[in-house]
Amino acid sequence: MSNSTLKIGIFLLLSTVIGNSNASEKATAKIKVNCKCIALTFDDGPQAKFTPAILAILTKQNIKATFFQVGKNIKNNPQLSQLLAKQGHELGNHTMSHPRLPHLTAISAINSEIKGVQIMLKEVTGSTPTAFRAPFLKYDKRVWQSIKDNNLRAYNASVYADYKGDGDLHDQQVVADHLESITAKVTPGAIVLMHERQKTLHYLNLFIKTLKAQGYHFVTMSQLSKLKHE
Ligand SMILES: [Zn+2]
Repeated sequence: MSNSTLKIGIFLLLSTVIGNSNASEKATAKIKVNCKCIALTFDDGPQAKFTPAILAILTKQNIKATFFQVGKNIKNNPQLSQLLAKQGHELGNHTMSHPRLPHLTAISAINSEIKGVQIMLKEVTGSTPTAFRAPFLKYDKRVWQSIKDNNLRAYNASVYADYKGDGDLHDQQVVADHLESITAKVTPGAIVLMHERQKTLHYLNLFIKTLKAQGYHFVTMSQLSKLKHE
């Protein structure tokens, strides 16, 4: 074997290994689109304390969003999952009990964390999720295999919009500063991650209004994915 043949061989081998891992083993953080479209996503629900309030804001603003739900919460509030689905919001899979999946020793444990939500949401809403987000955005090879086996696509985010500061969100200036910082990060095709928690309720309505004023359209995660433009 000549030196150059060997080099080409190594190159092909490497590009196969690296190429595959890049193509299939990376959660989508943003979609390349031709419109000013974005997806708002809410993690960790449904929660009786927050889901109805978030839903009320989305209804008032007449927009659709995506909820990455946890099985143990769906079990406690199936009517909230039903309500969201009925109103045209997308429900995604965020595992049964929100563990760090790569920390689980048994592959079967990873599978049941993911498969369990597929079964549960199918039972509760009539449709099986196609969108997945790993708790803490932690993935490993076994997690990817299970995602694939369940016909899911994994989404991280390009905008992390939770309020992490220690200011009081009853203070309008604190809200205004936070809105300014997160709105600046939004670009067409953005996936915006928030959690179902009290703090989100302080700025969600204004956040949506601000983005609408900038000409943004709000679609679900799967809709945004379908708008993908090469
Ligand atoms: Zn979560």
